[in-house]
Amino acid sequence: MQNLYIDFDGVIVDTIRVTYDMLERLGVDQTDFEKMSEFYYNLNWKQLLSLTPIINDSFNCLKKISATNKFNIAILTHVNSLDEAVAKINYIRKYYKTVTIIPVPREVSKTKMIEAKNAILIDDYSGNLKEWESAGGIGIQFSTDLNKNKGFKVIDKLDKILDIID
Ligand SMILES: [Mg+2]
Repeated sequence: MQNLYIDFDGVIVDTIRVTYDMLERLGVDQTDFEKMSEFYYNLNWKQLLSLTPIINDSFNCLKKISATNKFNIAILTHVNSLDEAVAKINYIRKYYKTVTIIPVPREVSKTKMIEAKNAILIDDYSGNLKEWESAGGIGIQFSTDLNKNKGFKVIDKLDKILDIID
């Protein structure tokens, strides 16, 4: 079985779009790193997740991938605070009881938490994918826009990984 790591924000749920809408409404300067960190640190993640749409039937796709017995699946998600980690775990458990969940402190590369070599990462952020491939892993970009090509294979629905890797 191949190790398959799946990002959460912008892949499983659309937290990226919802938080950007909130930042716009609050008038937070999105180029100000400190203001952005403060925003994400203080965010009520439980409430945010209750308002956030699931992307393209992602949880059912995860279960479908798991049922093939070809992959060891884990959700690998950056977190800004322990509250965020707890809220994400509680949220994911409502939809998927058994999947492994690995929260990674925002300041740490996903490649420092996980042995990336020969493992697959599906992530919407090309920066994470670049680091992953530099560490010997296989990066697949998730985007609802299939034309968003930053040098990685792109999928817009998680079960499409089954068409790419067999
Ligand atoms: Mg993401």
